[in-house]
Amino acid sequence: MLSCKKVSLLVVQSQELPLRFSQKMSVGIHLLICRGCRAFKKQMTFLQHFIKRTDNDDFVDVNLPKQAKERIKQTLLNHF
Ligand SMILES: [Zn+2]
Repeated sequence: MLSCKKVSLLVVQSQELPLRFSQKMSVGIHLLICRGCRAFKKQMTFLQHFIKRTDNDDFVDVNLPKQAKERIKQTLLNHF
C-alpha cells in the first residue's frame, strides 16, 4: 500500500498529468481508507478550480477602493 506522502505526490501530479492505471487503482484504494488524503485531494481540487477561475481577467480585476488595497497590503506585510 502507498504511503500518504506518495499519495499526496500522485494527487498533485494527477492535476497536471494523467496517472497510469495502476497508480489510479493504488491511489483510489488508499483514498477509500485514509481520511487525511481524501481531505487533501478535496483541497487540491478546490485550489485547482480556484486557480482556473483566476485565469479569467474579469475575476482578477476586482475594483477595490485604494484604502482597502492598502489595508490588505499592510495586513499581508505584517503577517509574512
Ligand atoms: Zn493517506
